[in-house]
Amino acid sequence: MPERRVVIVGGGLVGSLAACYFAKRGWAVDLFEKRPDIRRPEHSSLAEHRSINLAISERGLSALRRLDPALEARVKELVIPMHGRMIHALNGQQSSQRYDVFGKHINSVGRATLIRLLLDEAAGYPGVTLHFCHEFLHADFDAGQAVFGDLARAGERVAVDADLIVGADGAFSRVRQRMLSKGTMNYSQTYIEHGYCEFSMAPRHGDFALDPNHLHIWPRGTFMLIALPNPDRTFTCTLFMPWTQFHALGADGDIVPFFRAHFPDALRLMGEDKVRAEYAAHPKGSLMYVKCSPHTYTNRAVLLGDAAHAMVPFYGQGMNCGFEDVESLDRIMTRILREAGKADNRTAALTGEQLRRALDEYSATRSVDTSAIVDLALENYVEMRAKVVDYAYLARKHLEGL
Ligand code: FAD
Repeated sequence: MPERRVVIVGGGLVGSLAACYFAKRGWAVDLFEKRPDIRRPEHSSLAEHRSINLAISERGLSALRRLDPALEARVKELVIPMHGRMIHALNGQQSSQRYDVFGKHINSVGRATLIRLLLDEAAGYPGVTLHFCHEFLHADFDAGQAVFGDLARAGERVAVDADLIVGADGAFSRVRQRMLSKGTMNYSQTYIEHGYCEFSMAPRHGDFALDPNHLHIWPRGTFMLIALPNPDRTFTCTLFMPWTQFHALGADGDIVPFFRAHFPDALRLMGEDKVRAEYAAHPKGSLMYVKCSPHTYTNRAVLLGDAAHAMVPFYGQGMNCGFEDVESLDRIMTRILREAGKADNRTAALTGEQLRRALDEYSATRSVDTSAIVDLALENYVEMRAKVVDYAYLARKHLEGL
């Protein structure tokens, strides 16, 4: 049986799930992550470089379930179900819009908690080696070799051979850059004119300050505040707004009058001093989306997750789609092996030709689907910030000439 060796670049949400899937198929897996191991207490804050929590939906849970129903069950113990969105009008009135009459819902989960769980899961498979502090530098895909800099050893070069190189290295993927240089990939990257800043809302009297089973939205037409619950009874609130408005507030401008005018109920719950301090201290993130096609290079390289299709966060589907990438590829591999008469189609090794067919089919179907969801995510920003809106507020702003 030919040995199959995969190098996975990126130990984020998608890379760590992909490591589990390949290992379960019996591949030898080397996962390289440029950051230190965030499971170690001294590095724990590194996982929170972006949103502190995110929404996991059926699309993402399905990928966990296919790998191992027990893993899905463990994740479900860590989430907070959000059955609908709660719209906050300017006068403080709240109205619930349920997502589904049959009770289908999305779930808030901590980003760091989920990455740690998936890294632990990957490390538990025989054949998986996790390499932290290793930065992907370049690859010769045709020769099946990837080169990393060992950041713990002054960037010392490490060359690794692999049958397949997986780029799960996020929106600014260097693996994708190297694939682009082969001259066979279409690619576009677009920044939107809005950015974001995160805030926190502490518990009140030991309990959640708002209903924890909703995704809270303060839609204000051209901008919005949202809040997702955390297990420690806090909420993470995110302000999405055009850069022009961030700039109008000035680098050290006082955000409190702005909150008082547009989110007075949230401000009362968050506290003026805290809002002021967090606005000054927290980074302002940019938002972009990526489309590329194909997602693969021959039978030697494949992009998964944000590396293939970074999207704006308004559909809550970036990670979910990345998980679905991993599940889709696995389903295609299984089907190809089944068609080849392999009884053990979940673990048998693919020939080079079968792998090529699997990657071609994966790219042909997935690049169309992910391009569509990238567009839907963009459209959902208008839905969230304006279409669910408090019309009385908009009408008044219109009369005020805003
Ligand atoms: P990443 O999470 O970016 O991980 C890539 C990993 O690769 C990182 O660990 C990085 O350190 C590593 N890496 C990068 N370069 C190299 C290199 N050269 N060598 C080695 N390692 C490297 N998605 C949802 O599904 N639901 C949500 O509710 C949601 N909310 C969001 C809110 C915000 C504000 C933002 C910004 C995003 C949100 N997303 C959400 C999107 C989600 O965060 C991404 O889709 C998800 O993180 C993608 O995972 P990934 O593993 O593909 O990439």
